[in-house]
Parts: sequence; C-alpha cells; structure tokens
Amino acid sequence: MPEKNIRIEMVLSCQALDRSGLNRGASGNLSVRDGTDMLITPSAVAYDEIAPEMMARMPLAADDDAYEGPKKPSSEWRFHRDILMARPDVNAVVHTHAPFCTILSIARKPIPAIHYMMAAFGGTDVRVADYARYGTAALSGHVIRAMEGRNGCLMANHGMLVAAADLTRAVWLAEELEALAHQYYHALAIGGGHVLTDGQIAETLKGFASYGVQAKRPSED
Ligand code: 13P
Ligand code: ZN
Repeated sequence: MPEKNIRIEMVLSCQALDRSGLNRGASGNLSVRDGTDMLITPSAVAYDEIAPEMMARMPLAADDDAYEGPKKPSSEWRFHRDILMARPDVNAVVHTHAPFCTILSIARKPIPAIHYMMAAFGGTDVRVADYARYGTAALSGHVIRAMEGRNGCLMANHGMLVAAADLTRAVWLAEELEALAHQYYHALAIGGGHVLTDGQIAETLKGFASYGVQAKRPSED
C-alpha cells in the first residue's frame, strides 16, 4: 500500500477508535509496518487532532530511538517495534486504554474462554502483561511474553494491545477484545461463568477458517 494511503488509514483508525469509545484523548497509539520501517502515531496528540503528515517513521532494525518527524513518535514505540520485529505475521499494532480491558488489567484478571470469540486471539485466554512504567523497555519485554501465541493481551494497570496482519483487522480485534472484557466483567458480577474447553476453542478456530473471520471483518461480508 502506498505510504500516503497507510497514513490516511491510520488517521481513519484513530477516529474509529475514538468513536467506538475505545480511546480517549491522547491515550493509545497505533503502528503499521512499511517495508523495513514502521509508521507510528505521534506522542501526546489527541486522536481527533491527528493528521496523516504527523505520523513518525522509525526503522525497525535500529538500536536507538531514531525517527523522522515532524513530531516525536509515541512513547510506546518500543513495544510496537519489538512486536513488529518478533512477529513477521503482524503488520499493525493497536494499543488503547479501553475501559473494560483497563478495569480487568487493574484487577490483573486474565480473560478466560468465556465466549467463542476468544479463538480470534489465538488461544484459550488473553493474558495480563506484568506492570512496568509506560514507554519502557521493561514494559515491552512483559508485553512480548504475554503476546506469545496470541493476538492480544491486557497490560497491568494500563490497558490493552492487539496485533494483526493489517490495520483493519487490528481495529476489529481491539473492538472484540473490549467486548470480551465487557462480557467477562459482567459475568464476574453475577458469580462467574462457564469457561469453554480447549477443544471447543480449537473447534471454533477451524470454523473461523470457513466463516472468513480470519481474513476480514464480518461487516465486510
Ligand atoms: P503516547 O501519546 O506517547 O502515544 O502515549 C499514550 C499512551 O497510551 C502511553 O501508554
Ligand atoms: Zn497507554
């Protein structure tokens, strides 16, 4: 995809996350792989003020924080870069402080397979990455561990992140993860819930292959 289009898609995704209530103000950030670089949202700019030319470009293989402006990259560039480097299957990463994900992250409650949509996250649970201050290499290390074999995780006392083959799917996963967190929060409030078995989640994954959910958003059908 031409760089110009990626930048526009990033702005549209920021606006969609704002509209759906997953994001608020300048919190959250997103990145997209572009060849050997990543484009990443600028730091401390509210999503409703972000413009295509504000995205920062950072080389993925760099060992420092070199970037091409006009604005500083998101303070979370480390985990965006580390995920894109570690996961060739991933081309887009979305991080938000979505309300119900953040509540569960404060309670440090991983989400078990309380709904079959858990399968979209690659396994039978969504883990909570250990706490470290925002923007640190330590936080990136915790996130990388929590994301092993998964497409999303919660981040202790902070929020959540998701990773996908493209930005459309990453925004969709962000919405699905907040839906799971919302469902689990309410299930806990009425005494808990039944958890699906590993076999039931594996069966769902097989079903997804023909349903098409792996490749595109159901709304595009
Ligand atoms: P940035 O504005 O630097 O992207 O930081 C927001 C955030 O969510 C930090 O975790
Ligand atoms: Zn954050």
